[in-house]
Order: sequence, then C-alpha cells, then structure tokens
Amino acid sequence: MVYDSLAELVAAVRAGRPRAVGRLISLVENNAPVLHEAMAELAPDTGRAHVIGLTGSPGVGKSTTTTALVAALRQSGQRVGVLAVDPSSPFSGGALLGDRVRMQQHALDGEVFIRSMATRGHLGGLSVAAPQAIRVFDAAGCDTVLIETVGVGQSEVEVASASDTTCVLLAPGMGDGIQAAKAGILEIGDVFVVNKSDHDGAQALVRDLRGMIALDARDPGAWKPPIVRTVASEGQGTPELLQAIEGHRASAQSSGRWQTRRLERARAEVEALALTRLRSELSLSGRSELVDLARRVRDGSLDAYSAADRVVAQL
Ligand code: GDP
Repeated sequence: MVYDSLAELVAAVRAGRPRAVGRLISLVENNAPVLHEAMAELAPDTGRAHVIGLTGSPGVGKSTTTTALVAALRQSGQRVGVLAVDPSSPFSGGALLGDRVRMQQHALDGEVFIRSMATRGHLGGLSVAAPQAIRVFDAAGCDTVLIETVGVGQSEVEVASASDTTCVLLAPGMGDGIQAAKAGILEIGDVFVVNKSDHDGAQALVRDLRGMIALDARDPGAWKPPIVRTVASEGQGTPELLQAIEGHRASAQSSGRWQTRRLERARAEVEALALTRLRSELSLSGRSELVDLARRVRDGSLDAYSAADRVVAQL
C-alpha cells in the first residue's frame, strides 16, 4: 500500500493527489472496509462540485463532448473529474475506455482526474459505486465532475439521478428523434445537445426536439431545457453548452430545486448502500435458512409471502 495510514490517504485525497484519488476509487469499487472510514473523514469535504451527466446513444459524441468540456473548464482554471461509466463492460479501473485517444490530451494534466468504471456484475451496479466515486472527486477539490455513460436502459436514468445537471446528446441520422420520445429521455434532460450539427438533418432534429419539449407537460414555472447545437469534434458550441449548463445551475439554485434534487440523490445513495448490505448479509448468513425456506415453498408447506416475512424478521 502506497499510503501507510488512513489519515495519510485522506490527506492526499484532500490535497488532490491523483494517485490517492485513484486508490480511493479502487477502494470504492472493491467496497473495502477501510473505505467506510475514509468516506466518513471526507464527508465534510463533499457537496461542492457541480456534477454534470452526459448521456446518449453510442457514437453520438459523448466522449468528444466530454473532452471539449474538460478543455474549456481547464481554461477557466477549474479542477475537473471525469467518470466514464460503461454499463456493458467488464473492464474497470484506471484504463481509459475503448479508443478514447482524444482524452489523452488531458491524461498528463494533474488537475484532471479521469476514471472509467464498469458496472456489469457489480453488486448494485452504477447506483452504488458511481455516486461514491463522484464524492471522491468532489473531496479532491474538483469544481466540476463529468459523468459520462452510454444510454443503455436503466443507466441513463441512473446518471440523471446522480447528477445536478443532465445533458442528453442526440445527433442527426441516428433515428434519435423517435428514440428520444421512446426512451423517456425528455424527462431527464436539463440540457439537450444536438451534436454533429455539421451533418444533414441537425436543423430538423432541433425542430423535432423543440416540439417535443413544448409538448412535455412540466410545471409552467419549471426549467425549460435549452437545445444547444454543437460540433464537438471541432469544439464548436462548447462555450454555449457550458453557458446552458451554468444557466441550469443558476436556475436550480435560485428555485430550490438544486437542494431538493441533492436530497433525493442522497436518499438514493443511502438506500442503494443499505440494500447492497442487506443483500450481502442475506446471501452470506442466511443461505442455509433461505434454502430451507425455499424447499418448503417448493413443496407447498409454506407460502412465499410467509417465507419472505421470516427472512426479513431475522435481519
Ligand atoms: P460516444 O460513443 O458517444 O462517446 O461518441 P464519440 O465521442 O466517440 O464520437 C463518435 C465519432 O463521432 C468519433 O469518430 C468522433 O470523432 C465523431 N464526432 C464526434 N462529434 C462530432 C461532430 O460534431 N461532428 C462530426 N462530424 N463527427 C463527430
């Protein structure tokens, strides 16, 4: 272990040392016992970072957009954390996802922390580890944390609930206009990004989206998500995107929605951790008891509800 004591590790994370940050996120992934102590120490250092989620179909330009945002945020002197979540990948750790070569322009920058996280096969998946990894970045003094994920099923909703501001990316020619309505991404987007605006069909996509947002039955006083056109590969539209994201932050903070959403987020975090813990206790200590009950349910001498009641009563 690089750090002799917990106090040393905690101090190094607070000081924003990349190795310490990486080490603590590994502890998050392994749910190591020492992690709990470290997070208890770091709790007062969290809650400062603006967490921005980016989601969208594969190939829409998420990692290109993330890279452009990191460059812009670095220019304004911010410390930035990037968490790339791949719900389908079994690979985790410090390695960069796929061929995200462009991200390497930031790889040597000590003020940028990049981490990829696989959630397949992890107990509790994204809902357990990602929020804690975000907290580590936060405690390390990141002004902004970008969390990027492929919009597959549940993961985009989880990203939305883990972030202060959710950006939904779409691109022309990907059938996204129809997908948007289908996948329910209209509800989760605080900012919509029409990337690849250099391609045909961008204007039509903006129009479709605008129509759908207008139809979306939000409260009259609620935030109206803006649509930003970008060409991420050229850095075009990045300042406008940041402006839209900032606009959302300002609006949410003044309306009180910021705190409401963070409360909801904290509640979900606690619930996810508690459920994970209960699940592991059940499967460890209650195994023979569980099999016993299951046998009786199979044979009809006990109903499943009563069996479940007994399991819960034992916890
Ligand atoms: P991700 O899978 O959503 O992370 O998408 P990537 O960021 O990896 O982008 C997929 C491909 O689209 C890459 O080859 C990018 O260079 C390219 N790309 C990203 N943004 C744009 C854009 O605005 N215009 C064009 N023409 N290509 C883009």
